[in-house]
Amino acid sequence: MSTLPKFDVLAVGSHPDDVELGCGGTIASLVATGCHVGILDLTRGELGSRGTPDFREQEASEAANILGVDRRVNLGIADGNIKNSRKNRLKVIAELRATRPDILLIPAPDCRHPDHPDGARLVADAAFQSGLSMIETITPTGTAQEPWRPAHILHYMQSIAFEPTLVVDVSAFWEKRNEAVRAFRSQFHSGSSEGSSADEPETFISNPAFMEWYDARARTYGYRIGATFGEPFLYRHGPIGTDNLVGMLKKEKPFR
Ligand SMILES: [Zn+2]
Repeated sequence: MSTLPKFDVLAVGSHPDDVELGCGGTIASLVATGCHVGILDLTRGELGSRGTPDFREQEASEAANILGVDRRVNLGIADGNIKNSRKNRLKVIAELRATRPDILLIPAPDCRHPDHPDGARLVADAAFQSGLSMIETITPTGTAQEPWRPAHILHYMQSIAFEPTLVVDVSAFWEKRNEAVRAFRSQFHSGSSEGSSADEPETFISNPAFMEWYDARARTYGYRIGATFGEPFLYRHGPIGTDNLVGMLKKEKPFR
């Protein structure tokens, strides 16, 4: 038996900062409604051109505090080499069985950075196998874990767009999301030089235009649901079922 309380949602990133960028507003909105949310980082981002793994760990902890999540774990899988191996799946399965989330938020199915779809595939396969009782895992104290399969898997959007299955209205949480992203001072342009030195190389994500692009995209998807900011998701095993059509659909501010 797990000693952890059950989680509603587990957000998974290939690198520390992936979930803040891709679904930070959604995480903040879930926490605000009383959901129990955890973050799982697959790697320490040690191949990143800026910052160090230790500094990114400190940044990840600060960002988790800003978002208000109850748990953030890093599996320490090799950055740049997220193999869908039995060893790595067992690491993910142990965390899924420990936290027992109903909903998994995972990286994009396609991206300019191969670690993102590689991470998505690893976690999706681990989520399936986590439900198989013949795959045995134990807690750090040696207790056997019960099988657990999350009911729903959603991809958050990264650098390559998809037509989203759903968009979460994060208008009230966009500033908190930005605050959490800015906690990764070594990675992004924040107006502060603390934690990153001016002689570090500029990267795809450290350019100020990167943040403006994310902002514009959140406005674009937000507009399509009648909100100011929205985070797009792709339901992995569509279509989405409902037994409450009226309750499921947003009643106000439709896009029409
Ligand atoms: Zn990443």
